Amino acid sequence: FDKLDGHIWMNGEYVKWADAKVHVLTHGLHYASSVFEGERAYGGNIFKMTEHNERLHKSAEILGFKIPYSVQEIDDACVGLLNKQGLKDAYVRPVAWRGSEMMGISAQSNKINLAIAIWEWPSYFSPAEKLKGVRLDVAEYRRPDPATAPCKAKAAGVYMICTISKHAAEAKGYADAMMLDWRGHVAEATGANIFFIKDGEIHTPTPDCFLDGITRRTVIGLAKDRGINVIERTIMPDELSSFEQCFLTGTAAEITPVSEIGADRFVPGSITETLMNDYTTLVNPAAVKAAE
Ligand code: PMP
Repeated sequence: FDKLDGHIWMNGEYVKWADAKVHVLTHGLHYASSVFEGERAYGGNIFKMTEHNERLHKSAEILGFKIPYSVQEIDDACVGLLNKQGLKDAYVRPVAWRGSEMMGISAQSNKINLAIAIWEWPSYFSPAEKLKGVRLDVAEYRRPDPATAPCKAKAAGVYMICTISKHAAEAKGYADAMMLDWRGHVAEATGANIFFIKDGEIHTPTPDCFLDGITRRTVIGLAKDRGINVIERTIMPDELSSFEQCFLTGTAAEITPVSEIGADRFVPGSITETLMNDYTTLVNPAAVKAAE
């Protein structure tokens, strides 16, 4: 990845991709004082860009630092970099972190840095391929109690348990893992929210200790537009066998159907397919029109 082409926007300047470096004594590396976003451009437009960049600001605030660029400036930098990279279908990764001026838990004098990287990311899977669904393991680690970790921040530190859980799942041949929360309720996957369907209704966990994803809220809106009832509630793992369909939502995952979680099986059906089509139309109307 450090060999990719083009530029990275770093603290207000375009830096050659290979030269966008940080010092090894960076506070963000040692103590996880780092927040980030994951955004996606479709046909040259970054979907819900301002909402993502507002969340970036909010995540930093939760960690007690202020990004020295306004949301508008970050929006402008994202659009400027997308154009400079000459990309239309791409992943956008802003990251903000405390620098290397002081070393220790306290980081009062450390500079706050912001970088943005953008790389090409077309949609790889055809809807037919995606509809086969992915297989999920159940993670050992649980999403922490809001009294234990800043669970509403998209913060590097909170992802430590996600990487451990995803690696453990991959080692067993699964695509990802479903995580429970500290109470044992169904929470989400390691980088995406989770939805279930039964009897024509959608059920999804109440996001009280994990990200209420931008895609999650978008998909709830699309379902409501279709007149489909969406119930946000506590979901227990022993209920999984009662659901017919399951899917994940996230900027990267978009809508990804799930075929199994541990011993439970799901068959992606018409509601999942309808929402996938509606999501594609919403994020990339030009491509849908061109394909017609
Ligand atoms: N939960 C986690 C842990 C995530 O990493 C993501 C991806 N940002 C999501 C949920 C979904 O969020 P969004 O739809 O805003 O991308």
